[in-house]
Amino acid sequence: MSPSQQNSATVQLAAKLAIHSPSAETELVTDWCQDLGYRVSLKRDDVLHPIISGNKWRKLKYSLLYAQEHNIGHIISFGGGFSNHLHALAYCCHQLNIKFTAVVRGDYRANPSPMLRDLLTWQSHIEYVNKQTYQLRNDPVYLTELQQRFPSALIIPEGGSNTLALQGVAEIVHELSQQYDYIIAPVASGGTLAGLIQASQHLPLKILGIAVLKGEGYLEALITELMTQSYPHWAVCHDYHFGGYAKSPPELLQFCRDFYQQTHIAIEPVYSGKLFYALRDLCRKQFFPAGSRILLLHTGGMQGARKNTSD
Ligand SMILES: *Cc1c(COP(=O)(O)O)cnc(C)c1O
Repeated sequence: MSPSQQNSATVQLAAKLAIHSPSAETELVTDWCQDLGYRVSLKRDDVLHPIISGNKWRKLKYSLLYAQEHNIGHIISFGGGFSNHLHALAYCCHQLNIKFTAVVRGDYRANPSPMLRDLLTWQSHIEYVNKQTYQLRNDPVYLTELQQRFPSALIIPEGGSNTLALQGVAEIVHELSQQYDYIIAPVASGGTLAGLIQASQHLPLKILGIAVLKGEGYLEALITELMTQSYPHWAVCHDYHFGGYAKSPPELLQFCRDFYQQTHIAIEPVYSGKLFYALRDLCRKQFFPAGSRILLLHTGGMQGARKNTSD
């Protein structure tokens, strides 16, 4: 496909899925950033779509386009029982008439989460696997076997973080209407941060990732592996994971509630809560030089915070 054909195909795909693109870029007004002379803006990818969680649209866009171009009728991917990635991808596949198989960590058959109930509504096929099998999700031998079982399927890694994801995430940087000194985003599987880093390589910008899980060294390696070369203008901060993935102590939950009251912007404890908490703390500690212009990427993810109605 020529670039202009690809462009029209991406526009059509976004229209078919009713993506509200480009996402808004707004100022964040809170006492804890203005008082210190920081100018903080938000990129509201959380409102790109009511179901397709913000950064997952960015990461999946070019994989979905690839599937359409190559008439791929089946997609397989991986995630936990509350995964925003599986949720977004299952919905997209349902809308695009692509069969979807979700390989889910743990057996939720007796008590499916709200996310898994949605997948069933969208006719996804769910394969529950134990922890040991799930650990093989990036193992070449396991993936070859899976591909042999489903020869015509496209296998997308956990979180949607493949090299095609970087191209979609880069569009966040291309859409920005002003200059910034920092972009800050949460990090789990690394695709979002890698895309931001690569897209800003020629800009006077620093990319700061907030680790949402315990992964010092591991997260940096994930990010580095996704990129085609190494870059100096980024770092991952490991001070705000609150004990691990999806760990949400009362202080963090309270912060999320207070933040909503103050700003009317919804955040959840798994990703955006940790991101905004980190911002407040880093501002208070004057981590950034005075007058810094900071952009926070609100990646969405509110569906993951839904409680199990049967709990
Ligand atoms: C998946 C997800 C992330 C993490 O992005 P990675 O590219 O996996 O690092 C951040 N925020 C939300 C809301 C997510 O769903």
